Amino acid sequence: MDFALTEEQSMLKTNVRNFLEKEIAPVVDEHEKRGPLTKEAAVSFIRALIPFGYMTGFLPEKYGGSGLDHKTHGVLYEELARVWGSLAVVFVSEGFWWVLNEAGSPEQKDRLLPLAASGDYIGCLAITEPNAGSDAASVETTATLNGDEYIVNGTKTWISNGTIADAAFVLVTTDKSLGPLGMGFLLVERDSSPFTTRELHKLGMRSSPTGELSFDDCRVPKGNLLEPGAGYKRTMAFFDVSRAMVGVTCTGIAQAAIDASIKYAQDRIQFGRPIGSFQMIQEMIVDMMMETEAGRLLSFRALDILDRGERCRGQSSMAKAYATEAAVQTTSKAIQIHGAMGVSDEYPIERYFRDARTLTIPDGTTQMQKLIVGREALGIKAFV
Ligand SMILES: Cc1cc2nc3c(=O)[nH]c(=O)nc-3n(C[C@H](O)[C@H](O)[C@H](O)COP(=O)(O)OP(=O)(O)OC[C@H]3O[C@@H](n4cnc5c(N)ncnc54)[C@H](O)[C@@H]3O)c2cc1C
Repeated sequence: MDFALTEEQSMLKTNVRNFLEKEIAPVVDEHEKRGPLTKEAAVSFIRALIPFGYMTGFLPEKYGGSGLDHKTHGVLYEELARVWGSLAVVFVSEGFWWVLNEAGSPEQKDRLLPLAASGDYIGCLAITEPNAGSDAASVETTATLNGDEYIVNGTKTWISNGTIADAAFVLVTTDKSLGPLGMGFLLVERDSSPFTTRELHKLGMRSSPTGELSFDDCRVPKGNLLEPGAGYKRTMAFFDVSRAMVGVTCTGIAQAAIDASIKYAQDRIQFGRPIGSFQMIQEMIVDMMMETEAGRLLSFRALDILDRGERCRGQSSMAKAYATEAAVQTTSKAIQIHGAMGVSDEYPIERYFRDARTLTIPDGTTQMQKLIVGREALGIKAFV
């Protein structure tokens, strides 16, 4: 297995790191204290990062992308999360474009995909509901055909970008009797098919807008339903990619915590010596490095499998479960190394911890990832 970055990937990593540290890092704290980004602020960050390959890089050239592979994409996300976890989550808008690119009709792609490159059209993926979290197959939001329109009723919750999105791919059921086979992704464009949203506040990722979306007899053109009956399957295929990317995101957050801890341990003097000279501090730093490296390798291995066009469900789940939990441990140790400074909101360490802790939940909880890996290993389902 060769995990070395290509020359191009190394250059991209260096360039993007320099840019993020110079242009983005200085404004992170003020935005985090203000809360969820406004649409205008999100758009300005998205526009600044598109030239590096964020948001559109993975799309075909025809639609403004450069066909970036998953590993290069992973490099971009690790660097972004190292500076600002919340902004990495705002880029879940890519999931919207991913679904459109994979499953949209030629007409839908030609009309909407060029908007991705503008950076000012924000999308979200609305799967979770108040009664359908880990059990995504029990989605209750209905889309009922009425002439040339679907009438949508239901509530989606914890939707990243939900409050600032121009459009959502909403996982709906068009035929409850078919269970998951009666589900589809319905493209709901907010201008023409209004829905209401409510901001939800979270422990971490505070600059990433998260919303509840309510659909009350929301009328959507019939042609906006993608792949009738294949919405649940498409959701699972999306998770294969997104879980590995959450793993990479957590690796970036953990790396930031390691970098800060090493510097602090070298500079902070107690008992007349740098605290980094104490073996217990060194042990914590080495544990942080080993766990983060293991999470990184698992995540990039999953992305490598995706680049080879092979199935990677178990590997993505392993990467997501391990890298997120490892980041919680690593960022918690970073707090310990920083002493009281670690719990002060004047320093970024507590943010790293809150952000890492938040990511053990989305795209399937740690428990669900383990059940998926267990199912692959044993051939026995521990959940329906
Ligand atoms: C920051 C953030 C961003 C998010 N973004 C999005 C988004 O963009 N789009 C979207 O659709 N959703 C999003 N979500 C929602 C997320 O996907 C769900 O929260 C997640 O799937 C878990 O569902 P739940 O919160 O309802 O928990 P539940 O499913 O109610 O789980 C509660 C607890 O029970 C455990 N549990 C459940 N079933 C089992 C089982 N069979 N065996 C063992 N343990 C079990 C879980 O592991 C968990 O510990 C986001 C959530 C967060 C926190």
